[in-house]
Amino acid sequence: MKIYDFLENTYKAFLDTLFPLKCCSCGILTNRGEYICNNCRRMLPYIDIEKRCKFCGKEKEDCDCNSHTRRYNEIVATFKYSDSARNTIIRLKQGGRSGYAAFLAREMALVINETYRNIKFDYIMYVPTSRSEYRKRGYNQAKLIASKLSKLFRIPLCHYLKIKENRTPQHKATSRSERFINSRNKYISKGNLSNKTILLIDDVSTTGATLDDATRALLFAGADSVYCAVAAITSQKRKEK
Ligand SMILES: [Zn+2]
Ligand SMILES: [Zn+2]
Repeated sequence: MKIYDFLENTYKAFLDTLFPLKCCSCGILTNRGEYICNNCRRMLPYIDIEKRCKFCGKEKEDCDCNSHTRRYNEIVATFKYSDSARNTIIRLKQGGRSGYAAFLAREMALVINETYRNIKFDYIMYVPTSRSEYRKRGYNQAKLIASKLSKLFRIPLCHYLKIKENRTPQHKATSRSERFINSRNKYISKGNLSNKTILLIDDVSTTGATLDDATRALLFAGADSVYCAVAAITSQKRKEK
């Protein structure tokens, strides 16, 4: 092999690892740099954000939040986590954690750009995972996405939001009211957020309760307003993590 061919092939192999040539869902060849082919993209259940309910992120016909009040200003979601999309999403996840987070971040960025066009964010933040959850999964999807969005938008990533330590474990909370309080005061901000406008990221939301509780902690730390963005929203039947 001539040295030139060798270099060219090495360079191509290098590019292929950076930008996979195959769709991570079905495996067919795609344009370089595309994580998913157009066919599979069409199968993904995008939420029509024109029809979105600002309080739960679902399309208005699926909205079931009229009895809840939320402390965040608005929420926007990119996908419905429906049964028909489940297999595509599972295959996409198997395509590699970082690539999948980058794919979600890019799709979310388009939606965020459109919805929150007039808002100037000071920080991007993410919903933290508990230590046991982190040990089980080895990563925090929300953090991965938030960090990619921070680079895309050039908005600083802020790590203040934490899970409160020394909470009574949920299974040890005996009374009903104790369990309720426990589930409502899970988060704390480990820093001052005076007058900051926050873009809060999570991967999946069901009722918005987690985001609401996280928002409570951010407002308590002085934040001026909190806007949420999630990759996918599930139906009530699927349990929120
Ligand atoms: Zn495909
Ligand atoms: Zn709603």
